[in-house]
Amino acid sequence: MTLESKETQSLVEKDRQNIWHHISAYNEKSHPMIVSSGEGAWVIDHNGNKYLDGMSGLWAVNVGYGREELAQAAYDQMKKLAYVPMTQSHEPAIELAAKLNEMLDEDYIIFYSNSGSDANEVAFKIARQYHQQNGEPSRYKFISRYRAYHGSSMGALSATGQALRKYKYEPLAPGFLHVAPPDNYRRPKGQSIEEYNIQRAQEFEEKIIWEQKETIAGIIMEPLITGGGILIPHPVYLEKVQEICRRHGVLLIIDEVICGFGRTGKTFGHRHFNIKPDIITMAKGLTSAYLPLSVTAIRKDIYEKFNTAVENSHLRHINTFGGNPAACAVALKNIEIMEKENLVERSAELGERLLKELSSLSKHPYVGDVRGLGFLLGIELVENKETKEPASIERVAKIIGDCKANGLIIGKNGDTVAGFNNILTLCPPLSCTDEDLEFMIAVIKNVFKENE
Ligand code: PMP
Repeated sequence: MTLESKETQSLVEKDRQNIWHHISAYNEKSHPMIVSSGEGAWVIDHNGNKYLDGMSGLWAVNVGYGREELAQAAYDQMKKLAYVPMTQSHEPAIELAAKLNEMLDEDYIIFYSNSGSDANEVAFKIARQYHQQNGEPSRYKFISRYRAYHGSSMGALSATGQALRKYKYEPLAPGFLHVAPPDNYRRPKGQSIEEYNIQRAQEFEEKIIWEQKETIAGIIMEPLITGGGILIPHPVYLEKVQEICRRHGVLLIIDEVICGFGRTGKTFGHRHFNIKPDIITMAKGLTSAYLPLSVTAIRKDIYEKFNTAVENSHLRHINTFGGNPAACAVALKNIEIMEKENLVERSAELGERLLKELSSLSKHPYVGDVRGLGFLLGIELVENKETKEPASIERVAKIIGDCKANGLIIGKNGDTVAGFNNILTLCPPLSCTDEDLEFMIAVIKNVFKENE
């Protein structure tokens, strides 16, 4: 580990004086890492230290760092035409929408925004207006899950089911309800995973009935809960949820912000299940975070309710940057790279190998569960395997710190307020080489060995 140079120290000081970092409190002592460059799955800090980025930034850099083709696509497009508002149209937006539709195998219409939060806000507005224009104006409520994260803006935060993220920002948007997600590791003793998942899905139906079904506009969920601690449902869960939605006239919104674009070993996370969402939101892996762009994909039969001659029936939503030409060009090139390099299949393969290797950690006294889908893994740490008491913050921080000291960045997720701040997460670029994978496995195994 190289020590801080004078130059780095002065940059740190400038940073401290001028930047309020995300999810951070005022702190005179600590400061975040200053990252200077990236290549493949690796990032290099300002002191020249190299780290394998096991979190792809914020679950986003799916094709890895340093892709010249993406830089070139942005450069070419910016030179040719930097900006067009989406009240008009342009070639990259048209080609990208057609490509996404092809990937979705279904008749969707594409609405462009800037971030995952934006995409979810658009989904909520469309769902409410759709019901109004479909003769059911009383449907305005959304149901999501505890432990799920859907974004930072007021509506998306209201759908989020992690109390500490909302505490101090309330009151939030009314009309957002929550039910518990399936957490298979912590299911009641003696209950089968399938039975437990059906029961959890039925909680949606109970909520719908208790709240009066004519008031429910939609259910929003990720295919698997990512930020809330990698909670992977049994396939019966989503299938049952869809069946409940259909039966009660409730729209099913699937948040693919993290799970999309190969992360789970399929193009989209919901492809693991036999479902067809009404609305799908995507961001992050859409451009591999090279530029901001997000999408809300809406089934055409819903869109048609906005397309009548009735006065005031159009969607009154606009944003300045959504569908930016360079961002669309980058997204198209990003998808081309994923296809050319078979990164979806690669994600499934790498994930399977990583999960197999790390499953042996279950013998470790503090590892309660190791789980994953595609190249997305969670290692749940506990103090006591019998009681499953979540591991202390100190224990979790020690593992993360030791990984970093050995050149590997990993994440920590869960839900702080419920005490579940104990799930180590791995979400590396899908472009990892075999050597990268071996490096990751070796570091993690060694760190756990040293922390026995
Ligand atoms: N949905 C999910 C599942 C997410 O993980 C995130 C961000 N981590 C968002 C929505 C919000 O995306 P953004 O930060 O781009 O607004």
